[in-house]
Amino acid sequence: MASFGHIAVGMAAGRAFSRKRAFISMFAFSALSMLPDADVIAFVFRIPYANQFGHRGASHSVVFAVLCGVIVWLLRRDRRLTMFTFVVVLTHPLLDMLTDGGLGCALLWPVTSARYFWPVQPIPVAPIGAGMLSARGLMVVVTELVLFSPLVIWALLRSRAEKTET
Ligand SMILES: [Zn+2]
Repeated sequence: MASFGHIAVGMAAGRAFSRKRAFISMFAFSALSMLPDADVIAFVFRIPYANQFGHRGASHSVVFAVLCGVIVWLLRRDRRLTMFTFVVVLTHPLLDMLTDGGLGCALLWPVTSARYFWPVQPIPVAPIGAGMLSARGLMVVVTELVLFSPLVIWALLRSRAEKTET
């Protein structure tokens, strides 16, 4: 999936998490929402896509989301923030599993390195790297805009409305 869907989820989560510091919260949760894709660094180190530490491998697992939650808990001791972190990071592989290409996500790593998809995959998979600058890349962006912009609109309108209330 291109980043827009993940950013939209992060913005909605950030807005739901904090009224007072909504924009900082939206930014932080958007970054967390995209964190699993930091695994594209694997390509730099020539780690194959299908490897457990390749793209959509270990970082796209439930265990990784739990680990992120544990780190946040150790840093902040905030149950709500920990739960939001876990859920937001977990949405990443769950959404990627709705895409129609690639290898699927190693959701149950390290129990198994098997890659999973949902039974239906309505979201076109994003081409990696410069491939985004193609007709297929454009179609991916448009599809994600249509599917996920309601979350962004809700987050922004809600934040604005609350700002004028106070
Ligand atoms: Zn991903």
